[in-house]
Amino acid sequence: MQAHTGSYYAATINDVTDFAPLLGDHTADVCIIGAGFTGISTALHLAERGYNVHVIEANRVGWGATGRNGGQMIGGISGEQCVAKHLGKDVEDVFGELRWAGHDIIRERVHTYGIQCDLKFGYLDVAIKQRHVRDIEADYERLEKARFPHEFRILSRDETRGTIGTDAYIGALLNMGNGHLHPLNLCIGEARAAQSLGATFYEGSVVHDIQKGRKPRVITQQGSVTADAVVIAGNAYHALERKLRGIMFPVNSFIIATEPLSEEVVEIINPQDLAVCDPNFVLEYFRLSADKRLLFGGRFNYFGDDPEIIKRKHRSKLARIYPQLANVGIDYAWGGTIGVPINRVPQLGRISPDIFYCQGYSGHGVNVTHLAGRIMADAVAGTVEQLDLFANVKPFIVPGAHFFSKPMITLGMMYYKIKDRL
Ligand SMILES: Cc1cc2nc3c(=O)[nH]c(=O)nc-3n(C[C@H](O)[C@H](O)[C@H](O)COP(=O)(O)OP(=O)(O)OC[C@H]3O[C@@H](n4cnc5c(N)ncnc54)[C@H](O)[C@@H]3O)c2cc1C
Repeated sequence: MQAHTGSYYAATINDVTDFAPLLGDHTADVCIIGAGFTGISTALHLAERGYNVHVIEANRVGWGATGRNGGQMIGGISGEQCVAKHLGKDVEDVFGELRWAGHDIIRERVHTYGIQCDLKFGYLDVAIKQRHVRDIEADYERLEKARFPHEFRILSRDETRGTIGTDAYIGALLNMGNGHLHPLNLCIGEARAAQSLGATFYEGSVVHDIQKGRKPRVITQQGSVTADAVVIAGNAYHALERKLRGIMFPVNSFIIATEPLSEEVVEIINPQDLAVCDPNFVLEYFRLSADKRLLFGGRFNYFGDDPEIIKRKHRSKLARIYPQLANVGIDYAWGGTIGVPINRVPQLGRISPDIFYCQGYSGHGVNVTHLAGRIMADAVAGTVEQLDLFANVKPFIVPGAHFFSKPMITLGMMYYKIKDRL
């Protein structure tokens, strides 16, 4: 079993879970594989509805992408245009409030269960090029059309500079409905909430097989859970089902956390405590933590986890945006793996009538996993309308993607880097 990485989140965890491994044979209504946001969100939705849920995690609760991410609550669903096109409808008509449903679920859970996870609202989508400004204007119109209930407005170049103290961007969309949070503390808080409602958790238990039969049986080295339904929620970290390999690429993203910044610096670079994200595929994103460190993240072509390499790569990117931070102390550096389907449509579906899966949020998982958990719980209960919205879009299959993912990702990153520059 691997502990949490050397991340800022691991260092500021509220509560260290220590669930026993799965030993012996058990039965449950639902067995969930993987205790990241997808698995935990599903477990909590089901536990709230009275299901007897068992969650099996190979490492620790929140160990995967969930406990390492940028903590940015991004509205919308990646690939939504593709789903709408498949149905021949307008995105707004297909998704409407679903695009923000995960935010509402998080907000409600933080309130109901008193979860301490530094939840803050306020977000800037920044523009680097003129075409990004046009995208932002289109997003603004969509929000207006949907009567988005939170404050949103377009910022000029000067206003953007005044808001986040950098000349790197030519405009921005401010959205007070998006936000940021401490993802590991949210995940563990949700797990504790599910536990209080009767859910059972096992850590340090790798699922190596799912026997299909009258009832599926989930098997680890030392035990098993036989359930009426199974939800596979291992995302980019699992290699369980052949069918789920090769329909999603595992792409790495990396984050650094600086030393705490002085009040004077914070006043210049982010006095409103907003999360910031650029529109590139090989993107950069940043925000302040509760103790005023700058958490700066982005993708680059690297498959390891050496903190010194991550620090070096990110320091130069950070200095381009904030030259005054070129020599700032960097206290933490870590990485994690994101599941990226080629068409970007989150992959929600079934392997058989009683085995469901849910993966591939393309770096937009904080919001969408929470919606996905609700959709999974509905599907287990027999309501599959929203599941089928996603399940009916056929994923692109890349032959050999599972085995040759590194060279393919390297080529893909090169392609998108060039595209980002155009
Ligand atoms: C560095 C980074 C930054 C990101 N930033 C953001 C962001 O700012 N905003 C945003 O919205 N999204 C972001 N994301 C994406 C987001 O973190 C993910 O979409 C989300 O956490 C996925 O949750 P999950 O539960 O599906 O997967 P994970 O959190 O990866 O959880 C899967 C779990 O399954 C377990 N598992 C796998 N196989 C098995 C097995 N065989 N048996 C038992 N357990 C198993 C793993 O140990 C793991 O704990 C980021 C991701 C990364 C890596």
